[in-house]
Amino acid sequence: MKKHELPELDPHIVSQQLELNFCPRCGHALADMHAFGQVRRVCPACGLVVFREHKVASAVLLENEAGQVLLVRRAWGPKQGYWSLPAGFVDDDESPEAAAIREVCEETGLEVADLALLTLISGREHERGADIVVVYRGRIVGGVLSAQDDASEAAFFSLDALPPLAFRATREALARWREIRQEPA
Ligand SMILES: [Zn+2]
Repeated sequence: MKKHELPELDPHIVSQQLELNFCPRCGHALADMHAFGQVRRVCPACGLVVFREHKVASAVLLENEAGQVLLVRRAWGPKQGYWSLPAGFVDDDESPEAAAIREVCEETGLEVADLALLTLISGREHERGADIVVVYRGRIVGGVLSAQDDASEAAFFSLDALPPLAFRATREALARWREIRQEPA
């Protein structure tokens, strides 16, 4: 028997929302039918209804003692070379908080704790993006700053000297942070 060869894995395409054409339960071709209030993909053989779900990402806004914010430079497209908050998709077996802590560690080498919700941003910006981004603030409790994984650089920036930003989500999170800093304690 010929052994299946795995294609080269590309983590940057598997996050795309794929259109299902065949039933993942029984293999029959799916049809577009009215179900639960709108047209959805339905299996005429076994009755499975495909509900498309939002992709969720977590991001973290971290500041240093000088009040500068930590950004990472994107090593891959889309928006390669532009800067964003450390962020990534929430895996199905972890909480948004756990994903946030993991992504900061993977991209910047820093350990963070004491996460608090800063804002929640909805609306997909590009086909590989998230539909909902949960943005936390946090405290750096360990590690050594070094860019890794999806980041080619990681550095702290003053709000009045930001590098070119990749996404609306980062701009909105920074705007929210600015507001909070101006609110009386
Ligand atoms: Zn089926």
